[in-house]
Amino acid sequence: MNLPSPIQSVTFENKQFFIKRDDLIHPDFSGNKARKFYYFLKNDLSGIEKVISYGSSQSNAMYSLSVLAKMKGWKFEYYVDHIAEYLRENSHGNYKAALENDMQMIVGRGVPTPTIETIYIEEGGRQKEAEFGIKILAQEIIDWQEENGIGQLNVFLPSGTGTTALFLQKSLITHHSSLITRVYTTACVGDTTYLKKQFLELEANEKYHPQILTLDKKHHFGKLYKENYKIWLKLHQQTGVEFDLLYDPLGWRVLMAHPEVHSKPTLYIHQGGLLGNESMLPRYKRKYPFP
Ligand SMILES: *Cc1c(COP(=O)(O)O)cnc(C)c1O
Repeated sequence: MNLPSPIQSVTFENKQFFIKRDDLIHPDFSGNKARKFYYFLKNDLSGIEKVISYGSSQSNAMYSLSVLAKMKGWKFEYYVDHIAEYLRENSHGNYKAALENDMQMIVGRGVPTPTIETIYIEEGGRQKEAEFGIKILAQEIIDWQEENGIGQLNVFLPSGTGTTALFLQKSLITHHSSLITRVYTTACVGDTTYLKKQFLELEANEKYHPQILTLDKKHHFGKLYKENYKIWLKLHQQTGVEFDLLYDPLGWRVLMAHPEVHSKPTLYIHQGGLLGNESMLPRYKRKYPFP
């Protein structure tokens, strides 16, 4: 594990941003999943034989769990409603990589009741144990702030389940309250109401919740938007950093639309997910040959 992950300064649209490169934590873990599953990696969970989870057949969490299971010598069962036809015939990305790690995918059946030999992981790793690894992320940010004399900082990261953003804001407040570091996010999966609900399930006290920013237009997860592709290309050209194509384009569009946030020193968290670009990029290229 490459920890602490590096922080680099880039210029985008003539503004300075800092990027926390959590995509570089581990070649096989997908960025923030390394943080979320760190608890299971670091603790000796003797007696465990199997990990069980569920979700979509292309998810970053699924792939990272297959890596975790392999490292720990656990079996890995993953439950999905269905597998897209094209994926079955032409396996690639997270799906292919997880199968290569001996994931057993079970289609169209209910998730079994966990036993004492199994670890049950919620979809996308939305659970309490994630706090363990995300606290370390908070500490790395604080250490960097102190080293570089950056007092006030805004942190931005796009959310799926919101687990990473929530525990990050909570850690920054509870352990490092002398620094006023605010966490901003946006809902990439579902809408603001959904994201707020996710926060509340993990933490009842709203004082620890990140601030949710939005664009005016509605956005559907996994759909191809020309604006997303354009900002992704621009980011690559101007910063040299490859971002993911599912979360980051919306993240950056939302951040750029809120100058009140990025007019202060701003740290964007790159949460990995590049394996998914294997399928997203060809789709974008086909749909928008002249972006
Ligand atoms: C999983 C993931 C997210 C969302 O993380 P949450 O903790 O569910 O909000 C964002 N970006 C990437 C690249 C991811 O893999």
